[in-house]
Amino acid sequence: KVRVRFAPSPTGGLHLGGMRTVLFNYLYARQHKGDFVLRIEDTDQTRYVAGAEEYILECLRWCGLEADEGPHAGGPYGPYRQSERKDMYRQYAEQLVKDGYAYYAFDTPEELDAMRARLKTDDNPSPQYNHIVRPHMRNSLRLLPEETAQLLAAGTPHVIRIKMPASEEVAFTDMIRGEVQFNTGTVDDKVLLKADGMPTYHLAVVVDDYLMKISHVFRGEEWLPSAPVHILLWRYLGWEEQMPQWAHLPLILRPDGNGKLSKRDGDRLGFPVYAMNWNDPRSGEFTKGFREMGYLPEAFINMLAMLGWNDGTGQELFTLDELVEKFSVSRVHHAGARFNIEKANWFNHQYLVKADNRRLAQLLMPLLQEKGVQASEEYVANIAGMVKERCNLVNEIWDHSFFFFQQPETYDTAAVKPKWNADKRQFFLEWGSVLETLSDFSLAGIEDSFKQLATSMNMKVGELQLPLRIMLCGGKFGPPVFNIAEMLGKHETIARIMKAVP
Ligand code: GLU
Repeated sequence: KVRVRFAPSPTGGLHLGGMRTVLFNYLYARQHKGDFVLRIEDTDQTRYVAGAEEYILECLRWCGLEADEGPHAGGPYGPYRQSERKDMYRQYAEQLVKDGYAYYAFDTPEELDAMRARLKTDDNPSPQYNHIVRPHMRNSLRLLPEETAQLLAAGTPHVIRIKMPASEEVAFTDMIRGEVQFNTGTVDDKVLLKADGMPTYHLAVVVDDYLMKISHVFRGEEWLPSAPVHILLWRYLGWEEQMPQWAHLPLILRPDGNGKLSKRDGDRLGFPVYAMNWNDPRSGEFTKGFREMGYLPEAFINMLAMLGWNDGTGQELFTLDELVEKFSVSRVHHAGARFNIEKANWFNHQYLVKADNRRLAQLLMPLLQEKGVQASEEYVANIAGMVKERCNLVNEIWDHSFFFFQQPETYDTAAVKPKWNADKRQFFLEWGSVLETLSDFSLAGIEDSFKQLATSMNMKVGELQLPLRIMLCGGKFGPPVFNIAEMLGKHETIARIMKAVP
């Protein structure tokens, strides 16, 4: 049975790359009628950030990509937080020691520093703990068995490290990248179990993928260098038969293709890189998110899917159901995918114009509240429907419609050409009284009365429309002017004209 997992460490906000990993896991699980597991990898207490787990869950919920099993939903393979599984890992590390694939290392931080200081060169700025230094350090491979036993019995702080072969090829087939090979000579003796008894990521990820019966691992390409460690652990623990298939997803690159997209790029270039707003409780730093910027989740998902995948036909718009049906790992690119904010905006526009106006009104409510505006959902929905064609983001609806909610403070009178004069003034005063008596304040009714009055006063309709717009909106913008009047309603339209007539 297909079982996949998203295994974030709760260390901060969830960026585009993380969300795309969620999506591809989800698509693969749904397509194969499998299970999607959420596992919180919180064994590194020093990097743990309060609130990050709830944040991750909320991101998944926002996108409708919720996991079937996880800390929020439970499931048959729990607990789903590694910190709550702490006691499960030591036995596997001990077993590796017993079988000769791992060893106890008693080196103090000072001893490790001294080793690095001694071996550090320009070519090798951070010397590793590997087969070369191993025979010179304080570990159970070098010490006599009774020395090791004594140190352990005395409770000497120690870690357990994997014993990397000096030079061995580790090869595997990646579902995306094909044949991949590493020489173990380039990999250090990673710590598996820390001095505090907590497993490191490397041990925990293998043990949990095994115990949770994970069949396929979709994760970012940045984990590719760790794959040989994981593969050896699967082998050394005697689980190779059950080893999942690997799929390392291409990096998401900066718009110019120059390197991996980072949080800092977003701040620098002025676009979001996180799924939702993230307030870092440690640094107090704030990073803005797609959700709050006014992206719709279905557009966000569609955009993410196209970062490194397409169906080969040129089609760009896919619903989640279509993605579930059409997604294929063989069409995921090897090369990094450039992120393009204009394209992201384009995707959102496509979904915004199709979106239900009531829904848009609900999404706009927080922004309206912030602006101190009170309006019914129906009114906001009508306005959203009127201006959404001009917008990419939900929040831009406000920029194109603020004048529906507040009377103009200033008037762009300079824009009126030919200039404002006594005749025009007379026209608007009279039209105001006509409007008072108008029983049918509909688009047709408004427009007809305007044109009739202009004709009877021998004036050009075209020269009166812009002044009307400026009276209603304050400037030279907005939808067709009679639609604005209709939307404002009789009372407000007359009030604005009377306020503006000099
Ligand atoms: N905990 C790792 C992370 O934060 C998971 C890597 C993996 O999927 O194996 O990305």
